[in-house]
Amino acid sequence: MSRILVVEDESAIAELISINLRHAGFEVTIANSADQAQLEVDRVLPELVVLDWMLPGQSGLALARQWRSQPRTKDIPIIMLTARAEEGDKVSGLDAGADDYLTKPFSTNELLARIRAVLRRKAPDALDSVVEVGRLTLDPGTRRVSSDGVEIKLGPTEFRLLHFFMTHPERVHSRSQLLDRVWGDHVFIEERTVDVHVKRLRESLEKVNCQRMIETVRGAGYRLTQQLNALTA
Ligand code: CA
Repeated sequence: MSRILVVEDESAIAELISINLRHAGFEVTIANSADQAQLEVDRVLPELVVLDWMLPGQSGLALARQWRSQPRTKDIPIIMLTARAEEGDKVSGLDAGADDYLTKPFSTNELLARIRAVLRRKAPDALDSVVEVGRLTLDPGTRRVSSDGVEIKLGPTEFRLLHFFMTHPERVHSRSQLLDRVWGDHVFIEERTVDVHVKRLRESLEKVNCQRMIETVRGAGYRLTQQLNALTA
């Protein structure tokens, strides 16, 4: 399930947003300050952050800049909320690294539409759309994976791992990035755990002769590829 972090000090607004996001199938955590938001992000990397500009202490704008400057958090999708509607503010918000910008008051439907649009662009694994790479088809809605009509049975972790690989193909992911994005915990799980599940995933993919799509990149991590040499080998 996709995790959204709502950073908002006005509890009524935070509650309203979170009720609607949960209703739409997202898992929601609320933080009421930049410090608390940072603690939440240190613990679990969310799929997206709804970030209020005006917060007690450090502002949302400064927090967005800080996240963008760090390797682990630089790609977190951020939607910035603000009570201010001046064009200059919008520009500063986007300059600080927000992916989108919404002025209060806004409708929750509009927020949801913006969230889906940003996720489609930056974190498609957070949505339930069917993904196809090479001969593999994965449907998050029905939790089915198949190749040319042959169904592949996967455990829950292997399913999430393959979903992440398929929505980020041809890119190398380190074990620590995979723990962050697939397990939601980069601190308390050993990196070897990733190897165990990649091995299981490959074993399941052998059934349809797609095991070589998951490549080990020495010293770097893993990559899903649909290059021909992997498919025909
Ligand atoms: Ca506020």
